[in-house]
Amino acid sequence: MVVERTFLAIKPDGVQRGLVGEIVGRFERKGFKLVALKQLIPSKELAEQHYGVHKERPFFASLVGFITSGPVVAMVWEGDGVIASARRLIGSTKPLEAEPGTIRGDLAINIGRNVIHGSDAPETAIFEIGLWFKPDELNDWIPSDQSWRVE
Ligand code: UDP
Ligand code: MG
Repeated sequence: MVVERTFLAIKPDGVQRGLVGEIVGRFERKGFKLVALKQLIPSKELAEQHYGVHKERPFFASLVGFITSGPVVAMVWEGDGVIASARRLIGSTKPLEAEPGTIRGDLAINIGRNVIHGSDAPETAIFEIGLWFKPDELNDWIPSDQSWRVE
């Protein structure tokens, strides 16, 4: 059985503001499984590839500059429906329009400082996981309380 995986990254503002535990905790409490996590300062090449779909947009250069400005916490989370669910938990791109209860709705006000990235579709999840992680950095494991999460 192929279980769905998504790529999430706590951006430099989330790390600098001390929100790593708060954000990781939301996905843990939801019940998704963490299969990879590392902190890194992304290279310009990595950031440009990650945000390649936005390369013609006016905010591209500042977005790449920001995402490479300090440590990012890159993660892979696993579970049925995790890609769409994580996007809902993250909330709208514009934090002022994000619903209260979402990460951006609760923790951010500015579109350029919206604390977290999440893959938006199965193809982008596969692309982004492969871009940020080597295959041997992804851990296959069974949580000891698995039977209490899923039937
Ligand atoms: N962004 C920005 N200005 C804009 C639109 C987007 O700074 O007008 C940044 C913002 O950090 C956003 C990222 O570019 O999270 C990627 O944009 P996208 O539309 O893919 O939003 P997301 O998928 O992160 O919700
Ligand atoms: Mg996006």
